[in-house]
Amino acid sequence: MEEFGFKISKSTRIDLDSACQSLYNQIASKVPDIRTCINCGSCSASCTAATFRRTSFRGAILHINRGFDKKAVEFLKSCMLCGKCFLVCPRGIDTRNIILEIIRSEEG
Ligand code: SF4
Ligand code: SF4
Repeated sequence: MEEFGFKISKSTRIDLDSACQSLYNQIASKVPDIRTCINCGSCSASCTAATFRRTSFRGAILHINRGFDKKAVEFLKSCMLCGKCFLVCPRGIDTRNIILEIIRSEEG
């Protein structure tokens, strides 16, 4: 519908009730820490790779929680497994183990 020179944008609403969380639940069964993430962003703020490429552990977790598994992998493509995110995480989440699980899921 176009009236008055503008149109209504397509909805970007995410229906969390129908989101596929199979990868999230699969990782949570191996690394239950993932459920304690509070999305504070400390991991992303201190990420070594984020200086050069779009890399975010927090972003990856949010995306697999919403069922966007491929996007989550993209957020970790440049990860060097340096472990800095693990050092700064206030919840002590084993980030590297989770990163490896996400990358492995892409490999099939
Ligand atoms: S630092 Fe830890 S709690 Fe904060 S967003 Fe990252 S993984 Fe989650
Ligand atoms: S392990 Fe990966 S995501 Fe974590 S700080 Fe290092 S490069 Fe960033």
